Amino acid sequence: MKCSYCNRNAVYFQRYSGKHFCKKHFINFFEKKVRGVIKKYEMIKSGDVIAIALSGGKDSVTLTNFLLEQYGGRRDLDFFAITIDEGIANYREKTLIVAEKVTKALGIEHYVVSFKDNFGTTLDEMVRVGEKLPCTYCGVMRKYLLNRTARELSATKLATAHNLDDEAQTILMNFINADIDRLARLIPQREQEGLVMRIKPFREVYEKEVVIYGFLKGYELIFDECPYSELPVRAPIRDFIYEFEKEHPGRKISILRSLEKLSDCLKMTNPQIDLKRCEICREPTSQNICQTCKLISELSGKIAVKYCKSLVYNRKPRL
Ligand code: SF4
Ligand SMILES: [Zn+2]
Ligand SMILES: [Zn+2]
Repeated sequence: MKCSYCNRNAVYFQRYSGKHFCKKHFINFFEKKVRGVIKKYEMIKSGDVIAIALSGGKDSVTLTNFLLEQYGGRRDLDFFAITIDEGIANYREKTLIVAEKVTKALGIEHYVVSFKDNFGTTLDEMVRVGEKLPCTYCGVMRKYLLNRTARELSATKLATAHNLDDEAQTILMNFINADIDRLARLIPQREQEGLVMRIKPFREVYEKEVVIYGFLKGYELIFDECPYSELPVRAPIRDFIYEFEKEHPGRKISILRSLEKLSDCLKMTNPQIDLKRCEICREPTSQNICQTCKLISELSGKIAVKYCKSLVYNRKPRL
């Protein structure tokens, strides 16, 4: 099959648009699309210090390379990477090595922040004794460490590699759970003290397209899945959206657009509230005790866990 834009052979067929792309035109499409999204949502502004959440998995490796290649030459921007080591045996070690290599090659600083150093124990241990699902501990505590590290290192933005598939799953899951508060939090709102503003440059491109772009650009991508990723919660929703998209291409983007159409209404029904400070760790929270400290309280007595009173990472602060 030939590319829809030139005479070369196509490497990718985009079902929702009916277009075929050769390598060159796919790379052009992807870069233009993502740069357009960054501009549309004003994700990057002059003077920004951007912390990149780099797990070392395929999506975040592609994001880190993309941001540095596209924006790294700008003198009014600064970048560094943060990797959270949750302590997931036979998985995180490999992605940590990749993250180290990527940051070295790109010449940016790399901070590794572990559950073990900051909470006294690993995710594997929490899962062994705790009653919650692994992704609950992981999601809450990783977000906590990412925000706290980015803020302590003076970042103005925290970039994550969430793609259209992730966004569509989250939106639908919140609908299904009637969790409208969480749904409202997906809409970019005003800045809040203590929280570094999160940006998701890949939010309008398919996971598949992120991988194809990374592959065509020759980045080192590893495809290992977290051993906990197949546990129930997200998997059925992911599979449902996959099947639906197969029959009706373009539905993932419609899910995102539906949220955007509802955004004004959600801002009225669920206005952003001013955050308090957690009574234990002083991090921003909507309640008296933050989610992370609540999880630590539940686990204490079962394993040696600790509240994160001051952050520990692998190198001296950059500033
Ligand atoms: S699948 Fe769950 S446990 Fe594994 S890295 Fe993702 S959030 Fe964490
Ligand atoms: Zn072409
Ligand atoms: Zn707390």
